[in-house]
Formats: sequence, C-alpha cells, structure tokens
Amino acid sequence: MLADALREVSDSLYSAATAAGCSVPVLVAVSKLQPAGAITELAAAGQRDFGENYVQEALRKQQELRASGGAQAAVWHLIGHLQGNKAKEAAAAFDWVQTVDRPSIAEALSKHRPADRPPLNVLLQVNVDDEAGKHGCHPGELPALAAAVAALPRLALRGLMIIPTPHPDLEARRPAFRAARQLFDDLKAAHPGVDTLSMGMSDDYLLALGEGATMVRIGSALFGARTPRA
Ligand SMILES: *Cc1c(COP(=O)(O)O)cnc(C)c1O
Repeated sequence: MLADALREVSDSLYSAATAAGCSVPVLVAVSKLQPAGAITELAAAGQRDFGENYVQEALRKQQELRASGGAQAAVWHLIGHLQGNKAKEAAAAFDWVQTVDRPSIAEALSKHRPADRPPLNVLLQVNVDDEAGKHGCHPGELPALAAAVAALPRLALRGLMIIPTPHPDLEARRPAFRAARQLFDDLKAAHPGVDTLSMGMSDDYLLALGEGATMVRIGSALFGARTPRA
C-alpha cells in the first residue's frame, strides 16, 4: 500500500518535471509520527530519503531499524527546529539538517559532527514571509549566515529550506516560493556548492516544483494522515 502511494507521488513528480522541463526533485518522505515499520516498507519500495522533525523520535526509530535490519541505506534529514542542547545528537544521527537558522547552531553542529562521517549537509531555513514568531532567518541575514556556515570545516552548505505560511488558497503561497527561488539563485552565485532548494509539501509540491524546488518534503500524501496507529 505504501508502495502504491510512493509510485503515485513519484509519477506525479516525474510528469510535472517533464512538463516543466526541469529535473525531478529529490523526494524526502516525511516519516514523523510514523512507526519504524512504515519506513522499512517504504525503503523496500525504493525510497531513500526520510525526514524527521524530532531528534529523539528519529534516534528511537533508527535504533529499531538497526535491530530489525530495515532501511539500512536510508538518508536522514532533520526538518524540525533544532535546539542547541540537541545539536550533538543531531550531528551524529542525520545526513542533512534543513533547519539551520542561526550561527550558534551551525557552530555546534560542526563541532559535534563525528570525524569518521562526511561533512553534514546543511540547508538554511529562511522565513521568506517574514512572519513573526516563525523559525528561520530573516532574508537579510542570509548572506552572513551562509558565509558563517561555509567557513565551518565539518558542514557542507547545500542550499535553502522554506515553509511558506499555509494559506488555504494555494496561489497565495506562490510569492513565497518565488522569493525563495530568487534567494536561492543569489546564494548559488556566491557559493558554488549550493544545489538544493527544499520547498513543497503534500498539498503544494507541484506548485513548489513549478517555482524551482529541487527537493520536496512529503508526509501525508505518502503515509496517509498522521493519526497514531493502533
Ligand atoms: C510535516 C512536515 C512536512 C510534510 O507535511 P505533509 O503535509 O504531511 O506532506 C514537510 N516539511 C516539514 C517541515 C514538516 O514539518
């Protein structure tokens, strides 16, 4: 069943990318609140990238997966806000952290990235709508934050991540995606290693793709609604 949902989402990404003449975005399956068994099932169907919002939840599932032998080739993305006191665990448990929004968290991640792992892939989370109380750096802070991350030895600056204000009218989200694309192009010009623009979720990933997303983060369209399973 999860394999069918994966095929549907993958097909729709492929068709939309072909129609738009762009590359097919990387699909991150957002597995928050889903059991480890669902990750095993989706990985067996060919899914590689998984996104988790909470460090402790991810650690618990990774431990379960090690024990069961499931999803051993998974690439792990942290897509939830990261507190400073969790940076050490996150630096070891994830391949990507998509929510870096301040120099202090970047420094902590670089300091704690285990020496036997490649540099941690980092996306800068930007609050493009400049919405009060939302996580993500202000667009004006981006150049300085990017320079700080690029200077850290154990981090690889890969791009930007945004979560637009969830307007019920999808078209009202387009300006945020467009603004993110502009910031992404500017960042790429300054930092040649930048190649990833993470935007778009279950209800708006096709809109995001049309505005230049190279990575989409999809939960409910793959796993169904996030109600705890019996
Ligand atoms: C939960 C979540 C998603 C996936 O949301 P869906 O609407 O279930 O696709 C994507 N990105 C972030 C940051 C999330 O927290």
